[in-house]
Amino acid sequence: MAIHAHAHHEHAGDALLEAARLALVDSGEQWTGMRQSVYEELARHDKPASAYDIADNLSRSRGKRVAPNSVYRILDLFVRTNLAKRIESANAYLVNTHPGCRHDCIFLICDDCGKATHIDDDRVTGALREAGRDAGFTDVRPVVELRGLCDECAE
Ligand SMILES: [Zn+2]
Ligand SMILES: [Zn+2]
Ligand SMILES: [Zn+2]
Repeated sequence: MAIHAHAHHEHAGDALLEAARLALVDSGEQWTGMRQSVYEELARHDKPASAYDIADNLSRSRGKRVAPNSVYRILDLFVRTNLAKRIESANAYLVNTHPGCRHDCIFLICDDCGKATHIDDDRVTGALREAGRDAGFTDVRPVVELRGLCDECAE
């Protein structure tokens, strides 16, 4: 869900993987096998995943130990290049479903099941950026997370 004037694409499945690969290559980074594995593992989660969750799952699926530190470095790269978003209140990560397009995403996280979704509303986050700058801050980045119950848990 997005409120914009520009053409905004949310991706899923193979299209998301391809959009992520393009965005990473565009930023001058290589799309390696390990980076793809971390990305695919992260994309399987509809709840924010930590570097430890991903390292555990990859260690199992690859049959050899993957160090959380190397996963953490890749996640950090993904955040810098707009492929993933960090969910501060969960201390974990989600894939960014619009890797070609930068927004201050507003996340909604369910208190009950932990599932996370997101909306983009540049009027809301733009107002926050402006308020931060008015208060004398530079390099202002809104971190907006809404907690509540998802529609399934609210039933
Ligand atoms: Zn957009
Ligand atoms: Zn977004
Ligand atoms: Zn829920």
